[in-house]
Amino acid sequence: MDKLHIETPIFESYTLNNKLGKRIFFKMDCFQPSGSFKIRGIGNLCQTQAALGAKHFVAASGGNAGCAAAYAGRQLGVPTTVVVPETTSVAMQERIAAIGATVKVFGKVWDDSDVYARSLAKKDGAVYIPPFDSPSIWEGNASIIDEANNNMHEPDAVIVSVGGGGLLCGVMEGLERNDWKNATVFTTETKGAASYAAAVEAKELVRLDAIASIASSLGAKQVCSAALDWSFQRDIQPLIVSDVATLEACQWFLDEFGILVEPACGAALSAVYHEHESIANAQTVLVVVCGGRGMTLDKFNNYCEQLL
Ligand SMILES: *Cc1c(COP(=O)(O)O)cnc(C)c1O
Repeated sequence: MDKLHIETPIFESYTLNNKLGKRIFFKMDCFQPSGSFKIRGIGNLCQTQAALGAKHFVAASGGNAGCAAAYAGRQLGVPTTVVVPETTSVAMQERIAAIGATVKVFGKVWDDSDVYARSLAKKDGAVYIPPFDSPSIWEGNASIIDEANNNMHEPDAVIVSVGGGGLLCGVMEGLERNDWKNATVFTTETKGAASYAAAVEAKELVRLDAIASIASSLGAKQVCSAALDWSFQRDIQPLIVSDVATLEACQWFLDEFGILVEPACGAALSAVYHEHESIANAQTVLVVVCGGRGMTLDKFNNYCEQLL
C-alpha cells in the first residue's frame, strides 16, 4: 500500500552558502500534507494498525501529532478522535476537525488529555496513537534519511529538533540503515524545553518541572528512553537555542523560501542561520525542516512584537 507521507524535496540555501562558505541542505518536510514530518511515523503506525483491523484511532495532541493522526485516519477511512487540552487554540481545533477527526477538549494540560485518550482507546477495536514513543513511528520517520540518501552524499552534520525524541529516533535509524556512519548529529531544543540535553548530560532520563518556551511542539517534559539510548551509541551533540534565536531563524527562512514554520523547526534552522560555533567544521549540513501547522501570521507577528 502507498505510504501516507510524500517524498519531500531538498532545497539548498544559497544565502547561507554565500555567507558561510558551506553547503546547507534543507529537507523540506514542512511540505507534508499534515504540515509536518509527523505523518511519516504516525502514518506508518496507523497504516500498520489499520491492516491489523483497527476500527478507531485515538490520539492526544493539540498540535502536529493530532493533525497527522486526523490525516492518517481520513486517508485510511478509520474514524479518528483527537483529544486536545484546553490550552489548544480554537484555530488548531478547527484545523484538526476540518481534516475529519472528532475533536474532544479534555484536561488543563496534555498529560490529562493523554490519560483520557488512553481510556477511550480501551474500547474494542480502538487503538491509541502515541505522539513519539513507538518503534513503528521511528521506522516511519527514518524514511527522511532514506530519501535524503537518494538525493545527496552523506553530509558532515545532520541537524534535528527534539521534542519527545520520535523524530531523532527515526533519523538515527535512517542513518544506520543507509550506512551514513560518520555524520555528527546535532539536536536542537529551546531553552525551557531542553529535556533531551538534560538527559544526555545526566546520562539518564530527566523530567522537567515545566515547559517555558514558545516552541510548544518541543514541549515534552521527558524524552523517550530510546532517544537517550542513541546518545550512548553514536556522536550526538545537543544544542540549546533561545526563543529569540528560533524566531529570528523562522523569519530568515520565511524571507528566503516564503514559508512560515513553527519555532520548534526554527530551533534547527537557527543552528545554521546563526552559524552555531559547533558546526564550524562541517562543510555540508543537512537540516531536517520538520515544519509545523501551529503557526499563523497573527501569532508570528505577536511573538515578533513581544520578543524581537
Ligand atoms: C513533534 C514535532 C517536533 C518534535 O518531534 P519529537 O518526535 O517529539 O521529538 C519538532 N517539530 C515539529 C514541528 C513537531 O511537530
